[in-house]
Amino acid sequence: MSQDTTGSTATAAASTAQNGPAAHVEALENLLHENRRFAPSAEFAANAVTSADAYSEAEKDRPAFWAKQARELLSWDKDFTEALDWSNPPFAKWFVGGEINAAYNALDRHVENGLGDRVAIYFEGEPGDSRSYTYAQLTEEVKKAANAFESLGVAKGDRVAVYLPMIPEAVITLLACARIGAVHSVVFGGFSADALRSRIEDAEAKLVVTADGTYRRGKPSALKPAVDEALSKEGHTVQNVVVVKRNGEDVNWVEGRDLWWSDTVDRADTEHTAVGHDSEHPLFILYTSGTTGKPKGILHTTGGYLTQGAYTHKSVFDLHPETDVYWCTADVGWVTGHSYVTYAPLVNGATQVMYEGTPDSPHQGRWWEIVEKYKVSILYTAPTAIRTFMKWGRDIPDKYDLSSIRVLGSVGESINPEAWMWYRDVIGANAGKNGEKKEHPAPIVDTWWQTETGAQMIAPLPGVTATKPGSAQVPLPGIAVDVVDENGQSVANGEGGYLVVREPWPSMLRGIWGDPERFKDTYWSRFEAMYFAGDGAKKDEDGDVWLLGRVDDVMNVSGHRLSTTEIESALVSHPSVAEAAVVGAADETTGQAVVAFVILRGDAVNNGDETVLELRNHVGKEIGPIAKPKQLLIVPELPKTRSGKIVRRLLKDIAEGRDTGDATTLADPGIMQQIAESLRK
Ligand code: ATP
Ligand code: MG
Repeated sequence: MSQDTTGSTATAAASTAQNGPAAHVEALENLLHENRRFAPSAEFAANAVTSADAYSEAEKDRPAFWAKQARELLSWDKDFTEALDWSNPPFAKWFVGGEINAAYNALDRHVENGLGDRVAIYFEGEPGDSRSYTYAQLTEEVKKAANAFESLGVAKGDRVAVYLPMIPEAVITLLACARIGAVHSVVFGGFSADALRSRIEDAEAKLVVTADGTYRRGKPSALKPAVDEALSKEGHTVQNVVVVKRNGEDVNWVEGRDLWWSDTVDRADTEHTAVGHDSEHPLFILYTSGTTGKPKGILHTTGGYLTQGAYTHKSVFDLHPETDVYWCTADVGWVTGHSYVTYAPLVNGATQVMYEGTPDSPHQGRWWEIVEKYKVSILYTAPTAIRTFMKWGRDIPDKYDLSSIRVLGSVGESINPEAWMWYRDVIGANAGKNGEKKEHPAPIVDTWWQTETGAQMIAPLPGVTATKPGSAQVPLPGIAVDVVDENGQSVANGEGGYLVVREPWPSMLRGIWGDPERFKDTYWSRFEAMYFAGDGAKKDEDGDVWLLGRVDDVMNVSGHRLSTTEIESALVSHPSVAEAAVVGAADETTGQAVVAFVILRGDAVNNGDETVLELRNHVGKEIGPIAKPKQLLIVPELPKTRSGKIVRRLLKDIAEGRDTGDATTLADPGIMQQIAESLRK
């Protein structure tokens, strides 16, 4: 893997119009030629935990590289005999014969190593309450929960449904399950009773762990009623519901079934010995966000998942666990909240912040107040949040001292170059509330991965890579990502195609729960012997990878293949635009027409048709006339999943004049109504 560590300027060679999987397309100017490059400072590079050698080492012998990480980063009860068994693809076995306990690795061993007093979690509740757990305290809580769950008859291999807000009990529950070998299945707290029911049924859960509720924008918000409703009809396998008291609201109670956390977990024995589970023992099931359709129950197992999580968390964030304070803003309901809140940071002995609420409660500076309070040094969040902060304006973060930040991460969607630069200038360069700037702003790591990949796959290394706004750049050491054409051939630099993974990786999904055929069909049938991720991508002139959005979302306008990500980035590069979503709507003359939905920035003036025309022309100028949206709609909000991703299929329904389809995976199902109303005006 060649790495440009010199910070030299990339050649702005005109890229072709290979936006997504097109074979023959006309050359078309686009946004994705990017001259800006930000090399790590000498000081950062000198203190970085990883060097460029990792790439060459992994290249020599991939399984051996991972075996080394597995032994260095984890404590095994029984050493493995083989790094990878790929004799029955696509079903991989990593670290064959090894036995390991995830909770022991995240907890007990740190206490045994004398780190019991290090803070594991600083919890910040939305109403302003806070508590912290040292590694010793968290270990004790998890042991109690493990005893409590076992006393309720939960045994190794049983499934536990988790329907909790972002509170420490969520992490405690997951680790307690892992400890006893039970398989957790987290259902996002914002989901409906129906979504919960179908996931409980799919996994045949024995236990549900929930809370009375949480706080959302300053108000108590209930969770328990959805559990009651989900379990109201017979035919499920749930025997008990353990309920954390969080907001103190009245709840309905089913005697014999429901138990308070305080009566079961808090009173349980604090002694619990963790035993090793097979490296391939199922750790959890998690459903994908449902951006493209019916969510899939993705299955992850233990040894490989922990290895890649811990390795990437350490190298991509340049983690120095003795001094860093890490904050990943993801909810435990999505994969980032599993890999980069529950498992990897604790396995690595990090100190992390956990926040329950929304970024605007009670005011729009809440996140920055938290960064200042805990001196957060590594911040990991999603582009949707960054664009929201852009919309609110830089005055808000500028009021806080964010000088502790030294690494910034992004995940979930492509981060538009405009949002990337804002993140760097406003958050990464903040040297205190007086408006001074750091000489070397914090490096940004844009991390591409999926629920299915379990851990990060493409990302710069902050002490090694010269970063480039808008591109996730290079596969991590030991990861064989490629961009291929229709026939599965690698595309040349400057061209686009399908994003694939050519070799098995440790944290890869082991299947779709209960549906091995769907697993093969969805990921392994498009190309021979390659994992197809579903995303379109392009290699630029330097060979850096740009994510172009879902292949299903690629538009075809008069034979031109256009990427949603590129047009959205063009719109966001206009000073009036905070967020944009683009879809292709059926069109009699051009096959498909570009329809854009745009949210304006807080300080932008909406001059109606004039603004619409200006924005359409802006896209024409940035990309080319063919990409000009035929229709551009200014809306107050966009439909997003719980993880903040735009659900384009619902916008397509609007653009094509249909009733909108399944909106149950939206964070706020009422949003579609709001958009429809704003368009009627
Ligand atoms: P579903 O598969 O049900 O449609 P989903 O793909 O949104 O849902 P996730 O697994 O949470 O569910 O998201 C993974 C997807 O998110 C990737 O396939 C990619 O499209 C997008 N993504 C994640 N990180 C990045 C990134 N850094 N840059 C660009 N896209 C990203
Ligand atoms: Mg997906």
